[in-house]
Amino acid sequence: MSRKTPVLLPVAATEQHGEHLPLNTDCLILEAIVRELDRVVDDRLLILPTQQVGCSEHHMAFPGSLTLSHETFRRAVTEVADSVVRHGFKRVMILNGHGGNHAIDAVLGEQLGQRYPQVQTLVADWWTVAAKRIKPMQEGSLGSVGHACEFETSLMLAIAPQLVDLDAAEDGGIQHHVESMWFDAFQGPVAACYRPFHVLSHNGVYGRPSLASEEKGRRLLEATVESLKELIVEFWPDWE
Ligand SMILES: [Zn+2]
Repeated sequence: MSRKTPVLLPVAATEQHGEHLPLNTDCLILEAIVRELDRVVDDRLLILPTQQVGCSEHHMAFPGSLTLSHETFRRAVTEVADSVVRHGFKRVMILNGHGGNHAIDAVLGEQLGQRYPQVQTLVADWWTVAAKRIKPMQEGSLGSVGHACEFETSLMLAIAPQLVDLDAAEDGGIQHHVESMWFDAFQGPVAACYRPFHVLSHNGVYGRPSLASEEKGRRLLEATVESLKELIVEFWPDWE
């Protein structure tokens, strides 16, 4: 296998997603995205096993959630990346599927780049890469897309409908009086602030699963895969 093959490491989480979605929602969504991405690039990616436990300290008030500390997560991901680099691969992408991993992922992006000058590393959240295409699909107002929300529920309806209990779905999340402090996948909070999730939401949902649909989930998946394909083709144009 060419050592120029992009190696993709999916990193996700295991945590409560309201009463209507399974604990492994972030893993299932990310793995569906990665599978579809590999298909549209003619199986030219090397996909590593998903890191299924992420940084979920903020969600520990909700049973079922598992968490690693930032430091353990950083070391686990670094050591997996080390293994890949030791086999001679030159292109490594860490694709994130969980908001709680975002901060440490930014550190990993810098550290991996410094650690392996001979390797091209990319670290990204799927929703950030796809934001331009998927944000216009949001029907609810600010705060509708957060956690176990309009988008995650739609994606799960498209990917694994048998695991979604729509009768148990309940919109959730507080409406903040300062707009810049709202929790929303595409906007804010503007200032870095740590708030445990049970302060933001009584049921572990932030957003509006009531606006979810399978059809929207399919469009979200397709647009996300298209955006990721664009990114990797632009970043690695001479990819074999
Ligand atoms: Zn999630």
